[in-house]
Amino acid sequence: MISCDEAAVISNKSQYKEASLSEKFKLKLHILFCGTCAVFSKKNKQLTSLMAKAKLCVMSDLDKKVLKQTIEEQL
Ligand SMILES: [Zn+2]
Repeated sequence: MISCDEAAVISNKSQYKEASLSEKFKLKLHILFCGTCAVFSKKNKQLTSLMAKAKLCVMSDLDKKVLKQTIEEQL
């Protein structure tokens, strides 16, 4: 059984798809027995999807700038 600290680390890693299969399995098993980490993992996922959405907006603005620069350089 892993500790809550380890579960938090794996949870963070799995958000970025860096956790291995055995790590994910250990995390799932821990969450079954630990309500605190179950809530943490759920909130973490929500936060990540919010951040991903925010990142997309930033990226598109940046893309526009890069595109504008590229066009101006070619004129
Ligand atoms: Zn825990």
